[in-house]
Amino acid sequence: MAFRTLDDLGDVRGKVALVRVDLNVPMQDGRATDLTRIKAVVPTILELADAGAKVLLLAHFGRPKGERHSTLSLSLVQGDLERVLGREVMFIPEIAGPVVEQAVGILRPGDIGLLENTRFWPGEEKNDPELAKAIAANGDFYVNDAFSAAHRAHASTEGVAHLLPAYAGRAMEKELKALDAALRNPQRPVAAVVGGAKISTKLEVLENLVGKVQHLIIGGGMANTFLAARGVDVGKSLCEHDLAGTANEIMDAADRAGCTVHLPYDVSVAKELVANPPSERVCNVHEVAADEMILDVGPQAVEALADVLKTCRTLVWNGPLGAFELPPFDGATVALARTAAALTKEGSLVSVAGGGDTVAALHHAGVAEDFTYVSTAGGAFLEWMEGKQLPGVAALEGKD
Ligand code: ADP
Ligand code: MG
Repeated sequence: MAFRTLDDLGDVRGKVALVRVDLNVPMQDGRATDLTRIKAVVPTILELADAGAKVLLLAHFGRPKGERHSTLSLSLVQGDLERVLGREVMFIPEIAGPVVEQAVGILRPGDIGLLENTRFWPGEEKNDPELAKAIAANGDFYVNDAFSAAHRAHASTEGVAHLLPAYAGRAMEKELKALDAALRNPQRPVAAVVGGAKISTKLEVLENLVGKVQHLIIGGGMANTFLAARGVDVGKSLCEHDLAGTANEIMDAADRAGCTVHLPYDVSVAKELVANPPSERVCNVHEVAADEMILDVGPQAVEALADVLKTCRTLVWNGPLGAFELPPFDGATVALARTAAALTKEGSLVSVAGGGDTVAALHHAGVAEDFTYVSTAGGAFLEWMEGKQLPGVAALEGKD
């Protein structure tokens, strides 16, 4: 791929690395409640520090909208970062200017500095060239290790990348390689699973996928809209009836592109959206009663989908197949995720998944570790599934 990685760095001893990371961790009582994002950027930080660079970390934290808020200072993350890294980190309460310059003078090769929340400065989200220039002035080279922020053209994710020699960090490199193997350059046949609540949030994903994959597996609330568009009475199910026309257009586009759309033919239904409702039953999609909701893909359909996956070499998955937070409506998601995990372990399938609830569902199924790659990037992952160029990635490309 057309971007430089840490392998392309020469001798960095004593040089200042400006490293964009994602430290936007959920916090409670002054401690991070989930260290996943911090752990993801450890390899890049330690590799640069151990090579003798002075490492300056750039990150955003929450949504301060261009103003300083003590509750959103990155100093709150310093302790967790030090614990995960096993190194001391110097907190620097600015992102540019003389304070940073002085800190760079104090840091020795191999030391790590954490700059303040980039979003305290209005120029960050505006991608102000002056701010980007001021940030870049204190660095010798730039490393982006925050794929999850790469869909934003901000000063710290995009602007600075054009002003210094720019490299992908290890986490970014891994993510881009996995995504490349899943959609840009995949082994065929490719299957996509798209589920979740509403098709209105994923129209562009569906439109992009029909031209790229051979099997489009639709589940979740979205499947109801497609079923309704085909004339199925979905009762009280979550369904966007006004998008019937769009659903039909997507199915027509799939036909033209030689992509098979898989909709459930049996489903799990209930009269109320609670765990283990007494009214739960499995039926054919044509037998849903007026007071019932479709809450999961049925067991026969799941078996057929497992057979589809067995014929595929690549799988990309976004969105749970049912209301997986409430048993038994996690059944289809768990079963198909386990099939995908087993095929991946056997070596016959490359499996890439992403999306907030999707990642939670894969953990719930106990198979997140067995997928080839699970992206925690949220918005950036979805924009990539929509086929969009991410500005933070584009700024790294074409530089070798
Ligand atoms: P992701 O975060 O992985 O992109 P979404 O946010 O699009 O996924 O969708 C996840 C949500 O969709 C879950 O809260 C799940 O309960 C809901 N959902 C899935 N299937 C159904 C259904 N049949 N009816 C109602 N909600 C559903
Ligand atoms: Mg979600």
